[in-house]
Amino acid sequence: MAWQQVIESLRTNHQRFEHQLENILRAEEQRKLQIHCRKGCGNCCRLAVNCSFPEAALIAQQLSTQQQQTLKTRTPVLQNMSKTAENLKQFLRLFRQQRHGCPLLIPENQCCSIYSLRPFSCRSLLSTRPSSWCGVDFADLHPLEKQAFLSSLNPEIVAFPTHYLAQPQELGAGLEASTMVEMHDHYDISLGGNLIYLIWLELEYQLVELLEKNREKAKKLLLHEERNHPFLLQLKIS
Ligand code: SF4
Repeated sequence: MAWQQVIESLRTNHQRFEHQLENILRAEEQRKLQIHCRKGCGNCCRLAVNCSFPEAALIAQQLSTQQQQTLKTRTPVLQNMSKTAENLKQFLRLFRQQRHGCPLLIPENQCCSIYSLRPFSCRSLLSTRPSSWCGVDFADLHPLEKQAFLSSLNPEIVAFPTHYLAQPQELGAGLEASTMVEMHDHYDISLGGNLIYLIWLELEYQLVELLEKNREKAKKLLLHEERNHPFLLQLKIS
């Protein structure tokens, strides 16, 4: 089954990421660069997460009934936000302001409930500043404070203007793109977007099954969803 090959390739990419990340972190440790990420932080989980559809579908298939319910109740909020926003920047700001964050974060201990399956975009956020900076909305900062923060960053190390280490982000983006290419090679469809929304698509429409059994119907459905929620989906059909 084509989907099995897509998922095998994704799992291989997960392993590749973890292996290469170890090397990156070892090198940074030698340079005495401190990474502030700790178990139970969860501050970056308040940001909107984007990923490829195979990553989201793999997570969707592992969720408990309660997790599915939580996610389904959050989806209309997300859809409203996407309809209200005038552009992607405004949508991301609205998402951050609503403070709910990711429904896969366990509220009691601020840990990720699907840690071993988390998307590349989550894996690749490694903070070079104390975690309180991960929760800051820069639009709320005084211009001088913002300037001081930006000038404290080393653009050769971080993904400027963020304080996150650049190398893992480049690595994660490359592996996410390769996952989408793998999907495209099998289905002539490349699909990425908001993590919560992609999981919902799988739960609501059994999209993986639809891709396997009725690709034309899947294409129609996705074109409709993309038209309605352009900030939630990135779709390429050939
Ligand atoms: S998937 Fe996990 S790591 Fe990623 S934002 Fe959600 S809770 Fe955080």
